[in-house]
Amino acid sequence: MVDGTSGGGVERKRVVIIGGGFAGLNAALDLAKLPLDISLVDRRNHHTFQPLLYQVALAVLSPADIAQPIRSILSKYPNVEVLMDEAVAFHLDQQRVELKTGAQLEYDYLIVATGSTHSYFGHDEWAKLAPGLKTVEDATEIRRRVLLAFELAERQMQETGSHPSLNFVIIGGGPTGVELAGAISDIAKLYMSNNFRHIDPSQAQVLILEGSPNILGMYPDDLQAKAREQLNAIGVKIRVNAHVSDVQPGYVMVGEERINAVVTLWAAGVQASPLGKLLGFETDRKGCVLVDQHLNPPGHPEIFICGDLAHIEQDGKQVPGVAQPAMQMGKYAAKRIARLVAADLGSDGTGKNEPFHYFDKGDMATIGRKAAVANIQWPFKGHWSGFPAWMTWLVVHIFFLIGFRNRLSVFRQWAWTYVTFKDSARLITGSQELPGWNAVETQQLHPDTAPLDLGSPKT
Ligand SMILES: Cc1cc2nc3c(=O)[nH]c(=O)nc-3n(C[C@H](O)[C@H](O)[C@H](O)COP(=O)(O)OP(=O)(O)OC[C@H]3O[C@@H](n4cnc5c(N)ncnc54)[C@H](O)[C@@H]3O)c2cc1C
Repeated sequence: MVDGTSGGGVERKRVVIIGGGFAGLNAALDLAKLPLDISLVDRRNHHTFQPLLYQVALAVLSPADIAQPIRSILSKYPNVEVLMDEAVAFHLDQQRVELKTGAQLEYDYLIVATGSTHSYFGHDEWAKLAPGLKTVEDATEIRRRVLLAFELAERQMQETGSHPSLNFVIIGGGPTGVELAGAISDIAKLYMSNNFRHIDPSQAQVLILEGSPNILGMYPDDLQAKAREQLNAIGVKIRVNAHVSDVQPGYVMVGEERINAVVTLWAAGVQASPLGKLLGFETDRKGCVLVDQHLNPPGHPEIFICGDLAHIEQDGKQVPGVAQPAMQMGKYAAKRIARLVAADLGSDGTGKNEPFHYFDKGDMATIGRKAAVANIQWPFKGHWSGFPAWMTWLVVHIFFLIGFRNRLSVFRQWAWTYVTFKDSARLITGSQELPGWNAVETQQLHPDTAPLDLGSPKT
C-alpha cells in the first residue's frame, strides 16, 4: 500500500476499490487525480469492455481489442496500486477487506463494484452445456464451440455423407441473446459461405428461446417489433413464452418438446456478484445491495456500492444494470469521496450531499452486421432501427472503448470485416470436443431435406 501524508502532514485517506469494471475503473481514474492512496483489487488483470464480448465470441474481434490491463490503464498514477487478487471477506467494524491471498487492506473509504454473473435459475449444472457470456474466457469458449460445430460437420459429412443439423439455440432474448443470434447468423450465411467443400454453412439455423412474451423486453414495443423483423430477415427464428425446462448434451427441452442443438448458449439471466450477500446488507432477489441516494448501504457513509451490484431506484424504477449507470456511479462515488475528504480538511464541503442521479442516454442492441435498434434519450429522444441505428451503435462503442490503440484496432477490424466479409479472429483454441455432438440426431443434408423443426417462429 502506498504510504504517505499530504503536504501539510495530515494523513492521507486510503480508498480501496474492489472491481476494475466500468464502475470501479471510472472511480479510480477520477480519484487518482487527488491526494489519496488508492488500491484497486480485481481478480483479473484486465478491464473488459463487455458490450463487445459477443464480437470476440463470434470471431470478429480478438480479446485484446476489447480488454486492457488495468495496471497499464492506471500506470501514470503513482498513488494508485493495482492488486490482482480477490476480495473474500469484509470486516466492516475495522474498515478492513480481506483478500484471497491473505492480504488485508484497511480503508477510509471502500467502493465495491464487482458486477454481476450468470444465473442458471438454480440449475448450475447447465453451465457446462450452455455457456454464458461475461468474460473473455467465456467469449473464446463460445467461439470455440460455434466454429468447432462447423468443422465437425464438415468432417462427418466427408466421412459419412451426413451430419447433424447445425442448430444453434440461444436461451434468452435480451440484448446479449439477440446480438449473439445475429452474429452467428452472419458467420454462417456471410463469412463462411465459401469456406467449406462438403457442407453448406448457410443452412445453419439460429433459434432464440425467450421465456417472456417478447424479446428485448426493456425496449419500447415498436423497437421490439423492429428487432423481430430484422432477426427474421437474417433467418433467425424466435420463440417467445418458451420456458426451457432442461438442458442436455445435444438438445434442450421446452416443456415436453425436445429441440436439437449442436451448440446451446445461455443469455437468460444474471445475478449480482456474491460479494453483495457477503457484505451482510439487505439485498434484492438478484443479490444487489439496497443503497441510499448516495450509493451507501444503511449506516455506512464510508462504503459505496456501484454498478450492477447496486440496487437504487429512480422515478419509481430500478436503475438498470448496464454500462452507463455503472460508469456514472463510479464517477459519483469518486466525487462524493473527494467532497467528504475536503469537508474533513475544513472546506465547506459544498455539494457533498448531492444525491446520485442517473442520466439515461438510451440503449442500443445490434442485429447482425448492418441493423440495430436504438432507444435514444439524449441528445434528443428517438427510436431508431436498421442501418442508422447500427451506425450510431458503431460510433458510440468506438467512443467508449478504453484506450486509443483499441479504438483504432476495432475501427480497422470492423471496416475490414464489413468490406471484405472476412473475419480475422476465427481461431479454434483448446479442446476439440463439442459437448453433445454425438447426441444430436444426424440428418442427411440434401437440398430436399428439411432442416430439423425448431418450432414455430413468432413472426
Ligand atoms: C455480454 C454482455 C453485453 C453487454 N452489453 C451491454 C451494452 O451493449 N450496453 C450496456 O450499457 N451494457 C451492456 N452490458 C452490461 C454492462 O457490461 C454491465 O452493466 C457493466 O459491465 C457493469 O459494470 P460493473 O463495474 O458494475 O461490473 P463489471 O464491469 O462486470 O466489473 C466487475 C469487476 O469486478 C471484478 N470482480 C468480481 N468479483 C471480484 C472479487 N471477489 N474480487 C475482485 N474483483 C472481482 C471482475 O473481475 C470485474 O472486473 C453487457 C454485459 C454483458 C455481459
